[in-house]
Amino acid sequence: STRISARMRRIKPSPSSAAADRFAELRRQGKDIINLAIGEPDFDTPAHIRQAAGAAIERGETRYTPVAGTLALRQAIAAKLQRENGLDYAPRDIIVTCGAKHALFNALSVTVEAGHEVIVPAPFWVSYPDMVLACDGTPVIVACREEDDFRLTPQALEAAITPATRWLVFNSPTNPTGTTYTTAQLRALADVLLRHPQVMVLADDIYEHIRFGDAPKPQHVLVIEPALRERTLVVNGVSKTYAMTGWRIGYAAGPADIIAAMDMLQSQSTSGASSVSQAAAVTALNTEAGFLPGWVATYEQRRDTAVRLLNQIPGLRCAAPGGAFYLYPWCGGLIGRRTPQGKVIESDVDAVIYLLEAGGVMLLAGTAYGVAPYFRMSIATGVEQIEEGCRRIAQAVAQLA
Ligand code: PLP
Repeated sequence: STRISARMRRIKPSPSSAAADRFAELRRQGKDIINLAIGEPDFDTPAHIRQAAGAAIERGETRYTPVAGTLALRQAIAAKLQRENGLDYAPRDIIVTCGAKHALFNALSVTVEAGHEVIVPAPFWVSYPDMVLACDGTPVIVACREEDDFRLTPQALEAAITPATRWLVFNSPTNPTGTTYTTAQLRALADVLLRHPQVMVLADDIYEHIRFGDAPKPQHVLVIEPALRERTLVVNGVSKTYAMTGWRIGYAAGPADIIAAMDMLQSQSTSGASSVSQAAAVTALNTEAGFLPGWVATYEQRRDTAVRLLNQIPGLRCAAPGGAFYLYPWCGGLIGRRTPQGKVIESDVDAVIYLLEAGGVMLLAGTAYGVAPYFRMSIATGVEQIEEGCRRIAQAVAQLA
């Protein structure tokens, strides 16, 4: 017997959080591990943002804020959505949350019930399916293919939609594959959605600014197809763009009924996000992000280094992603091979365990992201770490029989 609810027994811990704990534990034991499982920028929050937080504390902004967030922050978010995305939202259409994760969870909580299906393209960010399960819904996983750059195709979307479909979760650039979409590709997905008015769109834009190469940033799907506005929730936050993962500020903008329900849920659960973090986020959004091109160029250089080194390792194959800070190499060439200890590698989970134990490199198995055999490798760490990590992977792979 258990005291834990059926809802909680359906879900599992986030593998990335588990990896972070495992890394801390191995470090405490004195092990030399290269951590390539990191899901946050390795840069510090810029000084002007940190100073804004200090100033807010000194001004006494240390009390509860409105549940939906301070007016100053919702105004800054409205201005950002206008300036960067061409989207017209008023502060009353916006709710501030404790990170984008909280916005996604609350959005699903207020709209999903038993019998509802939520389409999650795979490879997916690990939390989406479990969030759906925690809300009594049914995740409908749509496997995207490496030959399509892991893009959701209009055909696959069409085939996955049923009368019970409640949401499409749409994250681009995508964690874990870095997949990006062109305006034309988004247009084609929007055309499918127009045929199915029961389907809402949960647009997770958290990696929007981390894009590589010269390809123009695509238009926002709501600029491409404004008719979707009444059934789209735009989710974003300051974590990845401004290196503010620990501040826990995200937000959602969308239809009045959903925002009102999220406000109600928040009023009875977490209340408003941290007042100090909200003040910092105001400065982040209202100040030109002059540091960002340099950060993105750094991620891009690391991407190029890592892709080159991974493709030199027999049994692996890695495409260069268009955005975010992860690589998703195929590791099918390691499956069926034997470790020096005599264990056969049967899955990407086995491969990742072997690379940790024999190579001292921490990666995350593709199985957790819904498409195997692959692993996720973070490039949100110094290029020396990436080079050393790849060297260790190569060495460990060379020992396989
Ligand atoms: N969405 C995606 C796709 C992510 O990868 C992450 C963080 O890893 C989040 C949302 C959560 O962001 P936040 O730190 O704002 O909760």
